[in-house]
Amino acid sequence: MPNSVSSGHYTDLLFAGLPEFEPGHVWLVGAGPGDRGLMTLHAVNALRQADVIVHDALVDEQSLAFAKPDVIVEFAGKRGGRPSPKQKDITLRLIELAKQNKRVLRLKGGDPFIFGRGGEEALALVAADISFRVVPGITAGIGGLCYAGIPATHREINQSVTFLTGHDQTGSMPTALDWAAIAKGSQVIVMYMAMKHLENITQKLLDAGRPKEQGAAIICNATTPQQKVLISTLENLTKEARESDLQPPALIVIGDVVKLRDGLDWLGVYQHAKTLNPNPLGL
Ligand code: SAH
Repeated sequence: MPNSVSSGHYTDLLFAGLPEFEPGHVWLVGAGPGDRGLMTLHAVNALRQADVIVHDALVDEQSLAFAKPDVIVEFAGKRGGRPSPKQKDITLRLIELAKQNKRVLRLKGGDPFIFGRGGEEALALVAADISFRVVPGITAGIGGLCYAGIPATHREINQSVTFLTGHDQTGSMPTALDWAAIAKGSQVIVMYMAMKHLENITQKLLDAGRPKEQGAAIICNATTPQQKVLISTLENLTKEARESDLQPPALIVIGDVVKLRDGLDWLGVYQHAKTLNPNPLGL
């Protein structure tokens, strides 16, 4: 904090001119992939004003510290193997709370419009004639790759990136995806929710001629203190994933950008430096 600026004044400056959360409105807000430093100012502005927060499993609980002391927090994700609330029930709850004239913050992991059902929730609000805003967040496929030291694009390597989900509404591999076309046409593939069908997916890519020695990575709990990264090749990825203790949430990256991590694992360098000298200033 600069000495010349008091913390109150600094906060006022940060939030000046950002939207006021009106009672009876719903804001669908992306909280980013985990590290609360990756939340936007709009997200924090929403947290500071909300009466009710309906949040997902992947949202960092610490970020709730920005909220009002009497805020009501409702959990709407999967926890401890218990079935998650049905999407319809979550949507109905948002509508119910808005009709009670609450400022309703629907806080979602990553970006609400990337594999986050934000569109479905927003359409239900449209149908119920409830005013809403949508605040984008850093999606795991961008923020997670960055924290793993893997650029999503690199000029000499790729001119495109494909984001895909490894399972559809029914839990099966998405039938709408043309895996052979993806194998041929997608220079870098970033997969969400793909651990369950990893073996099938990698096999389909290999069958379609994707090079078996191509770099492949799994990034678990990206941007959180529990982040783990496995670097492998397309051919060995499933086997090595099975031998490891990697757990979802996880992203899978397939493409030549993976090899850049060798030089760009900035987080690993930081963590290593910290173990060597936890207190460099000797304070
Ligand atoms: N809307 C979210 C994605 C929700 S789908 C976004 O934009 O990021 C949930 C999937 O996202 C997880 O199964 C996993 O594949 C991915 N994911 C979300 N957060 C993650 C994290 N911190 N680390 C690794 N993968 C993550």
